[in-house]
Amino acid sequence: MNNIETINSDVIIVGAGNAAFSAAVAARESGLSVLMLEKTPEKFMGGNSALTIHMRFVYHSFDDLLPLIKFPDKDQDLDTFKIKINELKNIVSSYTESNYLNDINKVTENRSDKVLSQELVYNSLSTIRWMNKLGHFWKPTFENPTSANVVSFDGKGYGLINRWKNIAIQKGVKIIYECPVMDLINKNNQISGVVVNYKSQNIKLFSKNVIMACGSFESNSDMRAKYLGENWRNIKLRGVPHNTGEGLEMAINNGAIPYDDWSTCHASPQDYNRPDFDLPGENKSGDYWSRYAYPFSVLINQKGDRFIDEGETWRGLTYAKTGKAILEQKNQIAYQLFDSKHRKAGVLENYKNPTFYTANSLNDLAKEIKIMDINKFLINIENFNQNISSDKYNPSLLDGKSISNIIPKRSNWALPLDKGPFEAYPVIAGMTFCYGGLKTSIDGEVLDKNGDIIKGFFAVGEMLGGLWYKNYPSGGGMMAGAVFGKKAGEKAAINSSKI
Ligand SMILES: Cc1cc2nc3c(=O)[nH]c(=O)nc-3n(C[C@H](O)[C@H](O)[C@H](O)COP(=O)(O)OP(=O)(O)OC[C@H]3O[C@@H](n4cnc5c(N)ncnc54)[C@H](O)[C@@H]3O)c2cc1C
Repeated sequence: MNNIETINSDVIIVGAGNAAFSAAVAARESGLSVLMLEKTPEKFMGGNSALTIHMRFVYHSFDDLLPLIKFPDKDQDLDTFKIKINELKNIVSSYTESNYLNDINKVTENRSDKVLSQELVYNSLSTIRWMNKLGHFWKPTFENPTSANVVSFDGKGYGLINRWKNIAIQKGVKIIYECPVMDLINKNNQISGVVVNYKSQNIKLFSKNVIMACGSFESNSDMRAKYLGENWRNIKLRGVPHNTGEGLEMAINNGAIPYDDWSTCHASPQDYNRPDFDLPGENKSGDYWSRYAYPFSVLINQKGDRFIDEGETWRGLTYAKTGKAILEQKNQIAYQLFDSKHRKAGVLENYKNPTFYTANSLNDLAKEIKIMDINKFLINIENFNQNISSDKYNPSLLDGKSISNIIPKRSNWALPLDKGPFEAYPVIAGMTFCYGGLKTSIDGEVLDKNGDIIKGFFAVGEMLGGLWYKNYPSGGGMMAGAVFGKKAGEKAAINSSKI
């Protein structure tokens, strides 16, 4: 494709992640011609979306989930699979609109935009069904499913993105890679195209609608330092290095306004030796480096002190804020401690080839990981061990096995750390994505400072602001990308018919 300026399209979509594809396919289904412009080479397309696991959506019973599940082809595997599905059916009940909204409100301290969060929640199941009809499939989570993660993408995020690409191409969407968008074309306060850098040339591409879905500023160290604080400058990324915030800057330069929350972000506990970033198709699996057994651990800093309620609630409602808590500790590191009882209970099963230390006594373990004040550390652990409630330990439930008379308190899954061998996993904060975005309508139309829609201009996915504040419920980002991406694609078609 040498003469890209000759391509006519009713809508230009910036980026090729989940939100972009949702918008592209919805616009195409609504009769528009669609051009997607992606910064990376084709082999690294898909953005952070390609590294994900699941979407959080409403379902009223297992019957809502069953049509999404891809069954194995082989007869032999099918029989075992059906047995497991029946077992799963017996333990899964529902995840209702009010469950979802309660979770959002709880984790964001009631700061999530009420209109947007309701739009997300009430459109989640219908959007999932739309995706399923298009050819997307999910696989069941047989081991310890939580109500909001009973199914995850077949082939994880990479599988999802490759399906999106095939669906889009089949429907006639054009995609150009290695084609970063550098600027917007603004005629009389209406966005009417973009400037791209393609094969080292700046080229103007015109269109009635531009839908931006090119991520937030998580991969830009200067912007991280500016908006999140200096200690975020050198943090390792969990995701791609391509979401460098220029989409947000271009939009703001053209009248868009920033919308919450630009001062906090999603960051989670990661293996100390994780790479600086991941690339679609290259990472070993979406969560290969994630260290998400911390709710069961005793989590300590280099001084030997606990600093959060590790077992506050389900991991999916706390992990996104736990990275920040780790970043704030001495040397920006923490250690997840376990003993042989945890190993026996199976909570460490997802740790693949981790960095870890082991010792037969807590004293030796503390020396291994260079705890600064070993005596204080041993007293802390003794105090923890002696005050645990008598509730029954159960890592599959919010078991209430807690400690109330220590600071920070411990709400669930408290087991005494007293039976070696002991294990310590060093963890750092890994940046996932920024919550800061733009103010939009419920259809992703970008608003200006007067609250008026900037004509022809949409922002979706990570670029749509207002949903997340301080914390985040797992699976919310991808669901928001699909819901608002689809709505933006459809609204672009409605707007085009009026022009
Ligand atoms: C490791 C990891 C795991 C995650 N797991 C989950 C999960 O299981 N569930 C969940 O809901 N969320 C998860 N998230 C968060 C989730 O990835 C995001 O919320 C979501 O992907 C955002 O989708 P998006 O389409 O907005 O952005 P992306 O998928 O990041 O897509 C943005 C695209 O824009 C391109 N781009 C950037 N700048 C330009 C430009 N100037 N011109 C053209 N193209 C450009 C990028 O190359 C990229 O392809 C995870 C994130 C990470 C990093």
